Amino acid sequence: MDNSICFAQKSDADDKLASFREKFFIPKHKNGNDVIYMCGNSLGLMPKSAEKYIHNVLEDWKNLAVEGHFYGKNPWIPYHEVIGRSMASIVGALPAEVVVMNSLTVNIHLLMVSFYRPDRKRNKILFDFSPFPSDRYAIESQVRYHGFDPKYAMIELKPEDGQYCIENENIEKIIHEQGDEIALILIGGVNYYTGQLYDLKRITKMGHEKGCIVGFDLAHGAGNIDLQLHDDGPDFAAWCTYKYLNSGPGSLSGIFIHKRHHGRKDLNRFAGWWGQDKESRFLMGPEFNPMPTAEGWQLSNQSAIQMAAVHASLDIFLEAGMENLRLKSIALTLYLAYLIDNSMGDEIHVITPTDGNKRGCQLSLQMTNPDKRLFDYLIDRGVILDWREPDVIRVAPTPLYNTFIDVWNFCRILKDGLKIL
Ligand SMILES: *Cc1c(COP(=O)(O)O)cnc(C)c1O
Repeated sequence: MDNSICFAQKSDADDKLASFREKFFIPKHKNGNDVIYMCGNSLGLMPKSAEKYIHNVLEDWKNLAVEGHFYGKNPWIPYHEVIGRSMASIVGALPAEVVVMNSLTVNIHLLMVSFYRPDRKRNKILFDFSPFPSDRYAIESQVRYHGFDPKYAMIELKPEDGQYCIENENIEKIIHEQGDEIALILIGGVNYYTGQLYDLKRITKMGHEKGCIVGFDLAHGAGNIDLQLHDDGPDFAAWCTYKYLNSGPGSLSGIFIHKRHHGRKDLNRFAGWWGQDKESRFLMGPEFNPMPTAEGWQLSNQSAIQMAAVHASLDIFLEAGMENLRLKSIALTLYLAYLIDNSMGDEIHVITPTDGNKRGCQLSLQMTNPDKRLFDYLIDRGVILDWREPDVIRVAPTPLYNTFIDVWNFCRILKDGLKIL
């Protein structure tokens, strides 16, 4: 690697996934050029095909009305099965272990109904620090709902003083010391703030050895890292589809429930008709017999229009292949880290782990002399990213639509910005 534009140009020319950028609408800067979009960790770009997929549902609704459930281009009744299968392959799960439904925080609550079963001896929840508050609110309200005191029952996993990332050893120590009192470990697989990717397999194993249930919030993992949920073995996971999975603002969430829990009658669950076994769902009888798969956790029939947006995006992921995407992602982020380290001086440094196995595509850049004018400068020059108070810029080059030239241009503009401030 080197600092020259030639390196970026050559890398783009060699990129087998380069043509995928064409499949997305790239917003335009006021100067008429494409923006440098580094914000796929917040809201992924819109696939051009989403228009067609959604239009198909609208056409079926228009022409078939209720019969669209059976005779639509993608009949609405089994539509969640189609997208569930694709989603399962993207997160490394068996088709029966995944379903797409509701939104993320709703699903975290539903999953905690089944998997947070505190008693007097074991009632704590271990979770990781993050300024993204939804998980904390959900956890705290569940703890209170069960009559426990969040002050004692919530264990927040935090980096050591002066550090940003959390070592496996720290997690190990807490689980070793308090595991007998921990009912649930619920960690963001990729930390929202630092971009650190945790060792899901190892955390799962450590938790299970101590008798804890283990779940992951993969809002920043799904579509970003090459997940192997079935083999890594957590009890459950949930994620949203509007970040790396490009399915549109507020879109549906995915959940994973490991096969070992399917069909368990002893688990609490909040039930709804769409979780009923599909052989008897439309008999509309009074007795609830859940599907013996993740589908048994569904409550409602889902919005077909929203499922179409998810479908459009997942088809692109299947075509590109998660493994290929991850390889390009590692290369892009490594290049970004190289340019930051080699051309910015001391004014900015990366707080995300340097080891490619410990991060996804996001780098969190910390400024030595934080000045929000830098953020305004970047936006003004067509760089879309996000700023986290007090001093961090999160940058996420994504392999489906970002290029090495994007990374090179971003660093050039960032460097100019740092100079004028
Ligand atoms: C994006 C994100 C959410 C989003 O929650 P919604 O219920 O989809 O609004 C929740 N938790 C984390 C960690 C996130 O990054």
